[in-house]
Amino acid sequence: MASTMKVHEYQARALLAEAGVPVPQSSVVESVDDAVAAFNKIGGRAVVKAQVFAGGRGKAGFVKLCDNTDQVRQAADFMLSNRMVSVQTGAEGIEVKKLLVASAVDIESEYYVAVVMDRAKRCPVVMVSTEGGVEIEVVAKEKPDAIVKCWLHPHMGLLNFQCAQLVTKLGFTDKAQAKAAAKVIRGLVDIFLKYDCALAEINPLVRTTDGEVLAIDAKMNFDDNATFRHKKLQEMFDPTEENANELRAKEFDLSYIALDGSIGCLVNGAGLAMATMDLIKLHGGEPANFLDVGGSVTTEAAIEAFRIILSDEKVNGVLVNIFGGIAKCDTIAEALIAAAQEIGFKIPVVVRLEGTNVERARELLEAAKIPQLIPAEDLTDAAKKVCAKVA
Ligand code: ADP
Ligand code: MG
Repeated sequence: MASTMKVHEYQARALLAEAGVPVPQSSVVESVDDAVAAFNKIGGRAVVKAQVFAGGRGKAGFVKLCDNTDQVRQAADFMLSNRMVSVQTGAEGIEVKKLLVASAVDIESEYYVAVVMDRAKRCPVVMVSTEGGVEIEVVAKEKPDAIVKCWLHPHMGLLNFQCAQLVTKLGFTDKAQAKAAAKVIRGLVDIFLKYDCALAEINPLVRTTDGEVLAIDAKMNFDDNATFRHKKLQEMFDPTEENANELRAKEFDLSYIALDGSIGCLVNGAGLAMATMDLIKLHGGEPANFLDVGGSVTTEAAIEAFRIILSDEKVNGVLVNIFGGIAKCDTIAEALIAAAQEIGFKIPVVVRLEGTNVERARELLEAAKIPQLIPAEDLTDAAKKVCAKVA
């Protein structure tokens, strides 16, 4: 299943710098003392910013302009000891482990510049707006015309006339500034194409009171299916910011998605996962997660799949729904039995198996006599049974 890899702002800034986009001087720190030292090194006003995989930091109080060491100490201490709750996080918020201390700039105007994949047009699109800053989501919703779009040619990328048009739309008339803005747009497009991005965004790009054009916040997501060919991105991967279960699953080539309900779903194939979740909802239940064991699953990976699902405390019941094509029903049955023996099932596990080696699978399950295992006739029966058990 396609998903994206995220990086921190400081890592995105490094890629911008490499592409020739000017960014203010900064350092990454993990303690209050180091934040103060970084501030002193910058010499002058600085901004302290939480490094987390979520935006909306400014409004949440996790981007703070500081004039002196006391303010830096206070800001850094606050950010490192409180979870950040913003419009982009859940109510539980996220822990902040790293801070960026960056040189502050005197902003005259804030712009938005981004490159994303346009799925409808099947090519990347560059988007710019003169209304950059912390309100861009509101702008996109209420004033979509304030965002100017320009689609990349599939082979030639951003053409010169397109780049010039975007710069004009942003209102850069001064020659040197227009050139600087063009360089930023080009740099961002280069990064997007070179690193297989799903999103590359600068928000805001600023024009300072003395006419400099600088990127002061950046966000980048990369297509997971392409990270194998970018050593640099692999080095940027930060496992501490990921869902622990999703990582464990990845190690075994399983796809695990955490959700909010109480029914764990072990399925094969993303389409079957969707159908399974639809049926659970139809019968009044809510999925807690789904774990897709894929086509060629081994017994070891399937056991790990159970460990992952059962380690989620929200799970009160499990629905195993396997359509055995390449994945064999007896492999899943063996894994179920091994998992029951190894981990012990304290909650009901409703099992619907169909397809390759299903007869053998049923024999195995029957012989194992595991009381928590509840066989189901078909998918509807399975969904009804598991919903009744957790209700
Ligand atoms: P977020 O998008 O997560 O809220 P930003 O880095 O975009 O975080 O910061 C929010 C706002 O804070 C910016 O729009 C800008 O007005 C201000 N800001 C951020 N960095 C600086 C800086 N280096 N100098 C001056 N102002 C800044
Ligand atoms: Mg921003």
